[in-house]
Amino acid sequence: MVATATPPISSTRRLGQSRAEHLLEILPPLPDQVYPPEEAGNVAGMSQEEFLVDVVKRPPASQIGPLEKVHAFWFAGMSCDGCSISVLGATSPAVEDMLTGRLPGVPQVILHHPAINLESGASYMRAAELAVMGTLGVPYVIILEGSIPDERMAHAGGGYWVSQGEEPWGPDGEMRAVTTPEWIARLAPNAAAAVAVGTCATWGGIPAAVNNPTNSMSLTDFLGAGYKSALGVPVVNIPGCAPIGDNVTETLAAVLLFLQGIGPLPEFDELGRPAWLFHNTVHNRCVRGGYYEEGVFAGEFGDPECLVEIGCWGPVVQCNIVERGAINHIGGCMNTGGPCIGCTMPGFPDKFTPFYKTPPGSYISSTSTRLLGSFIRPLRRVSMRNRNREVRWDEEGRAPTGFGAQRSLQTVVDHTLDFFYKKLQHRGPLRSPSKAKPEFERERGMGQR
Ligand code: SF4
Repeated sequence: MVATATPPISSTRRLGQSRAEHLLEILPPLPDQVYPPEEAGNVAGMSQEEFLVDVVKRPPASQIGPLEKVHAFWFAGMSCDGCSISVLGATSPAVEDMLTGRLPGVPQVILHHPAINLESGASYMRAAELAVMGTLGVPYVIILEGSIPDERMAHAGGGYWVSQGEEPWGPDGEMRAVTTPEWIARLAPNAAAAVAVGTCATWGGIPAAVNNPTNSMSLTDFLGAGYKSALGVPVVNIPGCAPIGDNVTETLAAVLLFLQGIGPLPEFDELGRPAWLFHNTVHNRCVRGGYYEEGVFAGEFGDPECLVEIGCWGPVVQCNIVERGAINHIGGCMNTGGPCIGCTMPGFPDKFTPFYKTPPGSYISSTSTRLLGSFIRPLRRVSMRNRNREVRWDEEGRAPTGFGAQRSLQTVVDHTLDFFYKKLQHRGPLRSPSKAKPEFERERGMGQR
């Protein structure tokens, strides 16, 4: 029988106290024994971890680093489960590779995710209970998708917003649903890392949009700015609605290599984002950037040109969707005709609405590139036309092609422009290679903030 999700909450937060700390303070103490009286929900007769032992069959000698396994507890807050879909479909690296410990140096990840585990019900919650009691015996990380709502509001109406499992944690030992915020508050202090996946978990996202009826917030806002994991790592934020699955698995693998003592702590920016993934704007790498530079803009959806005038915020949005693709290096907003609506940014969605309307700030830049482009574009067409001809064709004054569009003869204007173009092309000394920065140094320079 499920009682209430969260006991009555009346006290107010002290100055400097995080919401998570406050929640722990007002919750009643846990009983010594937290297991349900019977182990239910194990129809497979074994746990996911036991099942994977046979799959992995990894000789001890192949283990690199001190950690053989790490548990990863996935919790859903105010979420549409899109992050789960995205991450479970990741390919580089794949979740399957992490589950089976196939990534060199990365410990095997015992992922507790409701969509993939063999166990259900009480059996599914067993490892999380052990972690709360401090008896799990191996390090764990917590992963949150969706935002953290204010359960006090739901409690006032006799219910809860988001929960996972039931525990005998009622005031008199009765079973009650345990909310996601409670799990997070209990597990975060001893977690090796706390990872927010998707824009709802990283910045509040859609549930925290204007009016925010559930008073939803990000993991960082819930745990407080001073939060550091047991190993000293602040909240890691991997935004996106949904995030790119590979961004999540790659970051997790990098953090696990750090926990393993093999790699350095990956570089995160001031908002806890993986810097190597979120430094550049969408616009920096967009496949339509050339159109923008020449001032050629799409007028409606389906046009191949730059989408800024039909609502693309790419020039100010930090995201790698166009270079990485949505899944398995395929798709991605601008690659498939969708303007960027800023879904990776802390201001999403309120600061980017109404969607599909020209961003006000883009008028200055699009007008100036339109002006410049009207001059540059014709010149480039002349050069392109010339470079589309073999030298032999120029000498013979003909182009042996049956396609009518190919011009056989060059005009006097073409010859004149080509004459001056060649003069410029071969003028001055060649650039000394020693003065050119190596590629990685230039990249590094771009990455400095
Ligand atoms: Fe930039 Fe968006 Fe245009 Fe791409 S479509 S070039 S991101 S403004």
